[in-house]
Amino acid sequence: MEPLRRLVQVIATLVTNGYFLFPQSKNIYQGPLKIVCSPGLNCYSCPASTTYCPIGAIQQLLLGLRFSLETGAYYFGSYVVGSIGLIGAFSGRITCGWLCPFGLIQELLYKLPLGKKREVVYPLRYVKYFMLVLFVFLFPLLLTNEWGMGKPWFCKYVCPAGTLEAGIPMLLLQPELRATLGLLFYNKLLWMLVFIGWSVVTSRPFCKTTCPMGAFYGLFNKISVVKLELVEDRCTECGACAKVCPMGIQFNEVVGSPECIMCMRCMKEACEFGAIQLTCGGHSMSAPQRISRKKQILTEE
Ligand code: SF4
Ligand code: SF4
Repeated sequence: MEPLRRLVQVIATLVTNGYFLFPQSKNIYQGPLKIVCSPGLNCYSCPASTTYCPIGAIQQLLLGLRFSLETGAYYFGSYVVGSIGLIGAFSGRITCGWLCPFGLIQELLYKLPLGKKREVVYPLRYVKYFMLVLFVFLFPLLLTNEWGMGKPWFCKYVCPAGTLEAGIPMLLLQPELRATLGLLFYNKLLWMLVFIGWSVVTSRPFCKTTCPMGAFYGLFNKISVVKLELVEDRCTECGACAKVCPMGIQFNEVVGSPECIMCMRCMKEACEFGAIQLTCGGHSMSAPQRISRKKQILTEE
């Protein structure tokens, strides 16, 4: 399953960043595909990006809401909110585990054999809800200038994916931009370096602590159409699922946790009792698991 997931991650990254003419154009792609919203966090201003970032689009909708209501431009923002709502309702946080380019980058960094690997302090996981509510929704909507326009707070002050995928490449493509660098850029560069360094020693620290996209999708994990479920009478509470989980959770103790990115490693690599199943609308989609006689006895006990 892991090779398949890695392949899907790479394909998704290439599809959402498939504008390979940027070294010649020296600018971002602005063709017709740019009205399509990518399912995962992927900076709009990345020179190779072919799609719109949903978190950026929500902020754009809210920061100019009063102006947009007058011009009718709010339709695009509404479409974005509607489409990520549908994605979340259908498949919860599976996008984070299978399609997000920044998730892939963090996973590759974590594979580097450097430093002592460690888990995040649990309370930090709540910061992503703070980011979603304040930096994505309330600040862009409420903190406006004299013309009623707000700022895209998350993109402007935090997003390390934006700095890595857009800020730095654009500075390389357009050297004249370097003269405009100020405190704002260095603040974001610092965030980016923190998350890159942190990803080497901790699995997916940005997803666990800060990503508003993950916070949003995670809200649907318990109720989504496609989800992972526990077959309780098969679970022996052996704890094997916790040992492979990139999000640091034990599946059987927190079924439907908003932290789960549905990578399915617990189901495929760890649980030997067939206690974890992928379901769609309540119907199992997992292949019937072969359980040894010894494990059957253990399960029955
Ligand atoms: S690996 Fe399977 S049997 Fe063991 S605790 Fe996790 S869900 Fe239960
Ligand atoms: S609980 Fe299972 S599916 Fe969810 S993130 Fe952990 S290993 Fe992946």
